[in-house]
Amino acid sequence: MLFTEDFLHYVWKFRLFNRLNLRTGDGEELEIFSAGLHNSDAGPDFQNARIRIGNTVWAGNVEIHLSSSDWQKHGHTTDHAYENVILHVVYRDDQPLVLNTGRRVPTLELQSRISANLYNRYHNLVFGHQTIIPCEANIASVDSLTMQNWLTRVLVERLEKRSATVIAELNLNRGDWEETFYQFLAANFGFKINALPFELLAKSLPQNILAKHKNNPMQIEALLFGQAGFLTDKLNDQYPLKLKKEYDFLRKKYKLTPVENHLWKFMRLRPQNFPTIRLAQFAALVMQANHLFSKILEIKEVKGLQNLFTDIKLNNYWENHYRFDTESPPSSKNLGKASIDVLLLNTLGLFLFSYGKHNQMQRYIDRSLQLLESLPSENNNIITDFGTLGVKIKTAFESQALLELKSSYCNYKKCLQCGVGNKILNLG
Ligand code: SF4
Repeated sequence: MLFTEDFLHYVWKFRLFNRLNLRTGDGEELEIFSAGLHNSDAGPDFQNARIRIGNTVWAGNVEIHLSSSDWQKHGHTTDHAYENVILHVVYRDDQPLVLNTGRRVPTLELQSRISANLYNRYHNLVFGHQTIIPCEANIASVDSLTMQNWLTRVLVERLEKRSATVIAELNLNRGDWEETFYQFLAANFGFKINALPFELLAKSLPQNILAKHKNNPMQIEALLFGQAGFLTDKLNDQYPLKLKKEYDFLRKKYKLTPVENHLWKFMRLRPQNFPTIRLAQFAALVMQANHLFSKILEIKEVKGLQNLFTDIKLNNYWENHYRFDTESPPSSKNLGKASIDVLLLNTLGLFLFSYGKHNQMQRYIDRSLQLLESLPSENNNIITDFGTLGVKIKTAFESQALLELKSSYCNYKKCLQCGVGNKILNLG
């Protein structure tokens, strides 16, 4: 038989073996009251199990191996963490287990107790033919409640991982949520291609400087375009020349160093996504919403969050320009719905979750999940693949969870730790 210890963990955890007339290797009667808590850290595999051997009830740890001789091979003989193991569960009992203390550890052998049916289902799931994911033949048959519960859990895992990055930056910003939010929002205004220069720009221009000029749109734009390195000596139009004049003054006043202009990318971008347009939109948002993160925490409705981005007004200059000094036919430069959805998903959703988690305030975590439920699914190859397997995906809540499922579970064949995999194995 071809399987890993993980399979035995799964079999023990859900007690998927024949439990009639259980006996230890020494022939004593064995009864299992509780399999214990699965331990993914160092130490025995299950903790706080409760069993009866003969007339004695035991509470303690359970260790699982393919063969009982693995105890020695895995170096447990000299490890004190394993001294209070009350039961050694193995597929094959090839050697009695006696600790250094002289105590003989009871062993349960599972070899003859696991059904061929269960083994075959496991084998087909984990080692069968696959083109997309291991469970591709069965995932559509998993009921929607199981799917929904599992996707919720995986989504929370994803948000927890991503919020660790937020908290690391928050610590660098000495606990300043507004500054941290401003930096992340700026990076997301770069929409991947210009995320780095946008982030560097935000870090080079603290938002408390912008706040001092919140009533002067010209100065806000001057600070942002100047720090981005776009206000060079080679400008012709009146508007950028005025910005440059403002920036030259403010730069000296705040001792600012602009980011390197060559970092900004225009190539292969639609003009609507040029960094100059994104900067003008970002400037309009900064002007309109002072203490933006506090405002976001107060807004309870998704519509209210969307309005923050739809209501922004860019300087008229941008109506017929995509870059300085180059006129173009007039067109709206407001943020499009798809861009707003990305900002809501990647910045607002993440920050509501991180704030709620960090401050143990469930209502912000709930608001984050509601926001994701209200946004449409992303569109990429992974989501398309899940769609072809019959998985129904409508919202960003589902698409984000599936991205996490694929990258953290399916790619590593962690089907035994997966709610979907557990359901498939139990369906047969
Ligand atoms: S990890 Fe879960 S969803 Fe992914 S292939 Fe395995 S059973 Fe399917």
